[in-house]
Amino acid sequence: MNTTPSDTIALLVELVRRNSVTPDDKGCQAMIGERLARLGFVLESMPSGGVTNLWARLGTEAPLFAFAGHTDVVPTGNEEDWSSPPFAADIIDDHLVGRGAADMKGGVAAMVTAIERFVESGAHKHGSIALLLTSDEEGPATDGTTVVINKLEHRNEKIDYCIVGEPTSTNKLGDTIRHGRRGSLGATLIIRGIQGHVAYPHLADNPIHRAMPALNELTTIEWDKGNDHFPPTTLQISNFNAGTGATNVIPGQASVEFNLRYSPETSIEHIQSTIKELCSRHQLDTTLIWKDSARPFITTPGTLTQAMQQAIVSETGITATLDTGGGTSDGRFIAPTGAQTIEFGPINATIHQVNERVSCTDINSLTRIYESVLQQLLG
Ligand SMILES: [Zn+2]
Repeated sequence: MNTTPSDTIALLVELVRRNSVTPDDKGCQAMIGERLARLGFVLESMPSGGVTNLWARLGTEAPLFAFAGHTDVVPTGNEEDWSSPPFAADIIDDHLVGRGAADMKGGVAAMVTAIERFVESGAHKHGSIALLLTSDEEGPATDGTTVVINKLEHRNEKIDYCIVGEPTSTNKLGDTIRHGRRGSLGATLIIRGIQGHVAYPHLADNPIHRAMPALNELTTIEWDKGNDHFPPTTLQISNFNAGTGATNVIPGQASVEFNLRYSPETSIEHIQSTIKELCSRHQLDTTLIWKDSARPFITTPGTLTQAMQQAIVSETGITATLDTGGGTSDGRFIAPTGAQTIEFGPINATIHQVNERVSCTDINSLTRIYESVLQQLLG
């Protein structure tokens, strides 16, 4: 029996009704796993540190095509502010309202029913299909996709193509595919001086005064000019703290936090050595603590981007733009394995907001788009 588009919405309702606030999965993956097992998928649950992860695969041959997504959602905020309860999954004017509807249970539901339709119709001719799900995307992301990918790498199981179903569309379903993401590097910089009385500056060493010219230089560095796929690297200072509160005391230290969103034109090593050199040139007594939260990645336009663009244009008439904007996603863990990795999903206008919603028409279209990609690559 073929899965009809309304089965996607029925599944989406079931998923949204499970209040799987990160890192809870609330049985979402077990429910999906059961459906895939019926199609012959082999299921492997890979729990880690309280996080639920699922790797489900049908077939053993190459190429291996994988959908990837997350079943966890962000907290609702004040439930009273919602026009209908965040886990009721009410459908109002063709829009399903609920936490996680767009980010990203809509994408997950579409993947599952696209797989069902593709396999049940007998269209699956070669290669393997997999689904990777985690409940740790909205949280620290240390026990989720990265754990599954490490296991696969360890046993030499290679993903060739991966679609992450994050909500990438901006104004219309199909306008944006992400084929890469910028890197994210954070730092805490402690600048030490010597505390003293403002009337006796010769006995003190003011870390604020020392920091100012160095920070000025830091914020005016041109790291790169970006490239065809990436905007230029940027650095933003997010916190600057110093002072004892008293107006007659030179503080003993200042602390600065900053973050870089960087393109592959600049390496993390180059950023770190440049900033170290700047601190020593300004004769600062510092401690620098780095947080390497995401490396940049890019999937050069090819088989996968073309299949996705083709699927989108035939469903919606829209020629999708390839883009690398936005924050970080789990694509950062998958792309380094060499898999062609792209993200495509519904409109992201309401994600993480009160009254998060997704268009049912769009989710039904998305299902057909995913099915068409499967058809092109494995049919
Ligand atoms: Zn998401």
